[in-house]
Amino acid sequence: MHSALERTAKGWILRITKARIIDNAIDYATMNSKLAFKWDNRASECVITIVSTFDTIIAKRISPKEISYTATSKSSQKDAATPPANTLASKGPWSLDVIVIDPGHGGQDAGAEGVNGAYEKNVVLAIGRKLRDILKKALPTTKVVMTRETDVFIELYRRTEIANAAGGKLFVSIHCNSMPTKPHPAHGCETYILRPGRNDDAARVAQRENASVSFEKAKRRYEGMTEDQIIVATMAQRSFVKLSETFAVKIQKEMTSGGSLTDRGVSQAGFFVLVGASMPNVLVETGFLSNTKDAAYLASASGQTAIAQGLAKAIQAYAREYQQSLKH
Ligand SMILES: [Zn+2]
Repeated sequence: MHSALERTAKGWILRITKARIIDNAIDYATMNSKLAFKWDNRASECVITIVSTFDTIIAKRISPKEISYTATSKSSQKDAATPPANTLASKGPWSLDVIVIDPGHGGQDAGAEGVNGAYEKNVVLAIGRKLRDILKKALPTTKVVMTRETDVFIELYRRTEIANAAGGKLFVSIHCNSMPTKPHPAHGCETYILRPGRNDDAARVAQRENASVSFEKAKRRYEGMTEDQIIVATMAQRSFVKLSETFAVKIQKEMTSGGSLTDRGVSQAGFFVLVGASMPNVLVETGFLSNTKDAAYLASASGQTAIAQGLAKAIQAYAREYQQSLKH
């Protein structure tokens, strides 16, 4: 499949010159599922309106097994921050009533192994549980959902499926960073939003986190998750990008205010675990397990509590600002 994404004055246009047809439906095995639509076998051309991803798709059948199509999104990156009316209408009052905590890895997927022997899966679960308990006290009317509460493996796609099914309004995936060699001097906290990676370091982090797929049975699900698909997924989330970024900035501020973790800023990369989220979402790399000082902090109960408190503060600050913005 050959495709190209163009940014025009009118918005984004995704041109895909060829896609296979199976059972009168486009084979979207390698595409974002939100793009799926049935092809009318009798028509030679059709126009489809897709609310959540693109505004319009014009498709033309070029052979019995192939179509060509052009997908257009009217939203340019400039106005991507404005949630489309349909998002608000379909969700009803947009209150922050469900928060989803996603401790990364679990079970056979241990994640990174620290220079001190601590496993990422255990560190992030401990932080997630502490965060859940803090939020339940601080925000008693808010539902807090965990994608896992024990040492079990959850497939990456399942994590946002759980979040979406619970009606989540905010998704935070918790992880620990690591370098290939340890001990390593790299240290500090960074928060990611879903967008095509901008630099090698972000790509390294995404590649390491996406490697969880190797523990999944249905690996084909992620085949073809190339830069283009990440761009498509980003566009599907265009109404959340600005909010995700706002949340990410708050996490960096709160997580690093104590001085134990340095601020590596907000970055972007193609994390599979964020692809399906129908809500603002971020992935936090709390600290480096490959760094001696960070690893000691991450493995300690006091460090985990401080990180959970930082995340809780960021969530509360986000919630306050968000509620305020609704009044204007
Ligand atoms: Zn991880």
